[in-house]
Amino acid sequence: MPHAFLIRAPRLTLPLLAALLLAGCQRDDPPAEAMVIEGHIFGTTYRVNVAGVEAAQRPALEQAVRQVLERDDREISTYKPDSLISRFNRYPGTDPQPISADMADVITTALRIGTLTRGKMDITVGPLVNLWGFGPDKQPVKTPTDQQIAQARQRVGLRHLTVSARADGQWLQKDLPGLYVDLSTVGEGYATDHLARLMEQRGIGNYLVSVGGAVLTRGVNASGQPWRVAIQKPTDRENAVQAIVNLQGHGISTSGSYRNYYELDGKRISHIIDPDTGRPITHKLVSATVIAPTATLADTWDTGLMLLGTEQALAVAKQQGLAVYLVTREGDRFTSYMSPQFRAFLLDEEK
Ligand code: ADP
Ligand code: MG
Repeated sequence: MPHAFLIRAPRLTLPLLAALLLAGCQRDDPPAEAMVIEGHIFGTTYRVNVAGVEAAQRPALEQAVRQVLERDDREISTYKPDSLISRFNRYPGTDPQPISADMADVITTALRIGTLTRGKMDITVGPLVNLWGFGPDKQPVKTPTDQQIAQARQRVGLRHLTVSARADGQWLQKDLPGLYVDLSTVGEGYATDHLARLMEQRGIGNYLVSVGGAVLTRGVNASGQPWRVAIQKPTDRENAVQAIVNLQGHGISTSGSYRNYYELDGKRISHIIDPDTGRPITHKLVSATVIAPTATLADTWDTGLMLLGTEQALAVAKQQGLAVYLVTREGDRFTSYMSPQFRAFLLDEEK
């Protein structure tokens, strides 16, 4: 399907995806005024497509995009020892620490969705993520013991983290010195929203911006058509399209257990950890896609829904009026579910 932007770009097969997208362009060359800016950040890729922007503005736009992303990296990357969040994580005290207004917003959203998923979506889950080998630390060679899991769990819990506004700014506070805040799961949506804000500030009204698996579009593409965003089939064997949506100014993000995993003792170990058990999720839900007013919301909910599993995810989606698309897998059989709110965005679905 040409002219569809594929989301949930898998880290390992990115070249393949890029080739697919390029092939699409070759078949049907976009008009000259279409501009694409791409690069790498947070160990993933970013992409900005704009329509109707003068070629002379390109260098300035490229530089502004880089600045926005590098600022986010310096704030929320747990892979950077000197980022704001890494310094907060290392800070041995329990008194409030200053954070930016943007960080206060994203952490507040994460805490709220954490509560709405009954504590499953938990940005303090870092010690468990690291224990299972998905954080900045290395992959374990053996399954962690019950004792290691219990120890890590003692350092996890949303109740230990508070955001507060004061006359002099926004503050973040922990009541456990060893608490470790991990914003990996919301970072792509967060950065995507900041790229969208940049476009608005530059007076650009037609754009597609994306970081990793999060995308936000507004207006139309260079051909005057709605942007088409494709959701990938949740398998690591092929790059097939599952559904195509028109976002109409919204953000979208997909969380899946089918790409980022490794095998240990014959079991597939997902990078999404259930804080209640301290272990990777194992249920049949293999991908959750959310469309929301911001990419941050979409990126926070998708992980939350993955953690809940199909039945509870659908119940929360109904209660909260969310636009969600879930795919479950049993053997080689994929089944999809969508909420009525999601259907409103759907252009095409593969069965
Ligand atoms: P991806 O990293 O593939 O974009 P997600 O957006 O779903 O996928 O984020 C997965 C990341 O979220 C994990 O690598 C881990 O750092 C973090 N994570 C794992 N379990 C949880 C959880 N229960 N709550 C919040 N974040 C989590
Ligand atoms: Mg997410």
